[in-house]
Formats: sequence, C-alpha cells, structure tokens
Amino acid sequence: MPYKQFEEYTIKVTEDIKGQYKNIIEDLGEDTTRDGLVKTPERAAKAMQFLTQGYKQDPEEILKSAMFKEDYKDMVIVKDIELYSLCEHHLLPFFGKAHIAYIPNGQIVGLSKLPRIVDVFARRLQVQERLTHQILDCINDTLKPQGVAVVIEASHMCMMMRGVQKQNSVTTTSGFRGQFEKIETRNEFLKLISTSLS
Ligand SMILES: [Zn+2]
Repeated sequence: MPYKQFEEYTIKVTEDIKGQYKNIIEDLGEDTTRDGLVKTPERAAKAMQFLTQGYKQDPEEILKSAMFKEDYKDMVIVKDIELYSLCEHHLLPFFGKAHIAYIPNGQIVGLSKLPRIVDVFARRLQVQERLTHQILDCINDTLKPQGVAVVIEASHMCMMMRGVQKQNSVTTTSGFRGQFEKIETRNEFLKLISTSLS
C-alpha cells in the first residue's frame, strides 16, 4: 500500500489544541482578541499538527514502495538532506542536515525515499540521538543492506535562544551498522560527506 500524504487536520484535535494555545497566550500576558492574535491559536494548532505528522506515517512502507533488485555493491550516499524537527524537551525547533549511506545487498531503494523517511522521523517530538538511530534502524531492518550509516548535524533553538545561548554550536550524532562498523568503510563515508566535488 502506498503511503499517504498528510493533507487534513483533525477537527477535534485542532479545536482542542486551539483552546489550549488561547490559554497559553493569555497566560503569557497577551490579548487574544487583538487583530494579529485572533486566529493565532488555530494557526498554531494546525502548524503543530503539520510539524508532528510523522506519527501518522509509516517509514518502512515508504521504503518498501520503492525497492528494486539491483546488483550494485558499492556505497550509495545521499548527503545534505535538509532536516527540521522539534526538540521534545522544549518544543523548540532543531534543524540541520542528515547524511545517509548504505551498501546494497541485492536491493536498492529509490533515492528520494531517504529524504522522505528523514522527514517522517523528524516530524515527531524528538531528540537528535534517537532520530539518528530510528533512521538507521529503519533502513537496516527494511532494506537489509550490507551496511548503513547516518550522520546528523543540527543546531538547536533551545540552546541558541535560551539556556547557554551558544549560537554557533552544532551537534553531531552518528550511527553505523554492518560494513560501516569497519574503520576503513566508515572513514571513506566520512571523507565523502565532508568534501565537495565542485
Ligand atoms: Zn531542547
């Protein structure tokens, strides 16, 4: 079964969240009847559902919808995949790039599916460490490649706007399975994602 694109908001959930956002905005000392804010609780309720739509999507199905038999046995890398997620501790965004590599074992996957599954896992409440491992395990369990590697580099608004206010810090997380547990393979991947051909 093909995966479904998220296109509708649940009326009940939108109404619930809307009411709660109205309370939050009022608790912060604002006037929810003024022009700019009248529709904010509803807009925010819809935005939050959009940003967490990944709960309703099945990443394994997305991969399975585009797997092909192929005798290619070298490394496949998709790098610089844009990523936007929400930190589950503060409900603030973190964003950056994901780099994914795998070594096929008789099957390849349509390249556009890798960014798609990054989105599915990123559009949930997350921590960067779990996000990295969920992407890794999903590819490993579904495609069953000889190896898979995921590196994520991200900036966290909860660090940049509050707390320690380290505005230029980037958090890097990585995970490796199969062939990528070997130092040479891992180093080749890390070298390839850190250099540009142009
Ligand atoms: Zn946070």
